[in-house]
Amino acid sequence: MSEGKEKEDLKNVVTTGPPVAGLVSPSRDNLREPSDEFKNKHSYERCTHCGYCRHVCKVYNTSWSESDYAGGRNRIIKALDRGDIKFKKDDIIPPVFRCMLCGNCKVVCPVGVDTLSVFQNFRKEVVKRGAMPEKLKMMKSSIMENNNPFLEKHVDRFNWCDSCEEGAKAYERAKQRITAKEEETPYSVGYFMGCTSSYRNKELVSATSQVLDKLGVEFVLFPEEKCCGSVLFRTGLEEDANKLVKSNTEMIRKSGVKEVVFSCSGCFSTFNLEYSRIADYNLGFDLYHLTQYALKIVKEKNLKIRYTKRSKEDPLLITYHDPCHLGRYCGVYEEPRELIRMIEGVKLFEMKHNKDMAWCCGAGGGVKALYGDIAAEVGRDRITETRACMVRIREDRLKEALETPAEVLVSSCVFCKNNLFQVANEDNSPIKVMDISQLLLDCEFY
Ligand code: SF4
Ligand code: SF4
Repeated sequence: MSEGKEKEDLKNVVTTGPPVAGLVSPSRDNLREPSDEFKNKHSYERCTHCGYCRHVCKVYNTSWSESDYAGGRNRIIKALDRGDIKFKKDDIIPPVFRCMLCGNCKVVCPVGVDTLSVFQNFRKEVVKRGAMPEKLKMMKSSIMENNNPFLEKHVDRFNWCDSCEEGAKAYERAKQRITAKEEETPYSVGYFMGCTSSYRNKELVSATSQVLDKLGVEFVLFPEEKCCGSVLFRTGLEEDANKLVKSNTEMIRKSGVKEVVFSCSGCFSTFNLEYSRIADYNLGFDLYHLTQYALKIVKEKNLKIRYTKRSKEDPLLITYHDPCHLGRYCGVYEEPRELIRMIEGVKLFEMKHNKDMAWCCGAGGGVKALYGDIAAEVGRDRITETRACMVRIREDRLKEALETPAEVLVSSCVFCKNNLFQVANEDNSPIKVMDISQLLLDCEFY
C-alpha cells in the first residue's frame, strides 16, 4: 500500500465486507497456499474475509463492531504485519481481547483458518510489545505470587475442606502419602480442583468430592496444587504459564497418581492441550473430566443412576450447555450426554446450538474479567435459548403434542456456571443453572 494510503485508525482497516458476506463460499482457487510455517503460525493470511464467522461470533452479535469478529481481527493482523497501520497500545487492546476464544469461528471457517491459535499468538505478540490490560497485569502478578489469580493466600486453597468431610479425607490421604515410605502403594486417582472452584465456587469442589466418594473412588487432592495457568495461556503469557506447567506436572508425577480428574473444563483443556504438548504427549498420567470419569466408573461397576428429587414419571427437564473448553477444545460432547441420559428421573433436551456449534457462555478468553458487559449479554442470549429448547413429547393416546421448555441448564465448567447463573439471577429467569457435579450430587448410584 502506498504511503499516502497508510491508515492509522483501526476502524479504517476493517470494512463491512461485501453485501453477501457470509452467504457465499470463497473460492479455493483464489487462495495462496501458505508455507507450513505460515499455516501453523500465520494462518490468518488465508482469511478471505468472507464473513462466515461473523454469523457465529457472539461478541460481534453483541457489539456489531467489525473489529470484534475473526475476519475483522485477521484484517487488523494483516494490516499490522504489512505496516498499513501503526501499532498503538491503547487502540489495539480492545480488538485483541474482546474475543472469548470460543472457537466457533474456527468450526465454520471454510478455508480452515485456525483462529484460536492465530488469536492466541496475536495476544502473545501484542503483550510482548507492551499492550496489556491493567486487570490482566494484576491477575498475572497474583498468579505468580499467590498461585491463584484472585489475590488469595495459597494456604486458603483448601479452606472448603472444613465443611466437606470427603474433601478433608482426600486432603489427609494426600498429606499422609507425601510422608509415606517409597514402597507404600500410592493412591491412583487425584482430583485437580482449579483456582475458581476452590476459592470462589466451593460448592463445586465439595460436590465433586462427594460424587467421587459416592462412586467409591478413593482419591487424593494435591496439597501443592497451583493455578493451571489457563488465564496466562489464553492471554498471551505463555512463558509465565510454563513455570506452572512444570510445577504442577512434577507434583502429580511425584504423587504417583495415574488418573487425574477435573471438574473445571478450563483446567482440563489446559492439561489436555498445553500440558500434554509441553510434555511431548507423555505426561505419565491420564486426564479425565468429571463427566468422563463418572461415566467410566458407572460402566465399570455396572451402576444405575437415579435422580432422587424427581421420578421417571415426572422427570426434571434439563438441557446441556457444552463448555467451549470441553467441547470445541477437547471434543468431549458425548460422555456428558450419555451420563445424563443414564439418570432415571431426568430428561435431556438439546438447545438449537449444541455440540461444536454451541454458543459460548460469554465468560471465555478473559472477556468476563475484562469486558463484563459483553459476557453478560452473551450469557443472556444463551439463557434465552433454553426457553426455545422446545421439544415435542408424544403424550397420551391422542398423541397430543406438548411443547416443553427445559427447567434446568446444566453445564460442566465453573466459568459457564458462574456467568450463566449470574445472568439468570439478574433477569429473574425461571431457568435454574447448575453444574453437572451438583446434579450428580442429588443422584443415587446403585
Ligand atoms: S476467518 Fe474464515 S470464516 Fe472468518 S472471514 Fe476469514 S475466511 Fe471467512
Ligand atoms: S473465537 Fe469466538 S468470540 Fe472470538 S472471534 Fe471467534 S467466534 Fe468470535
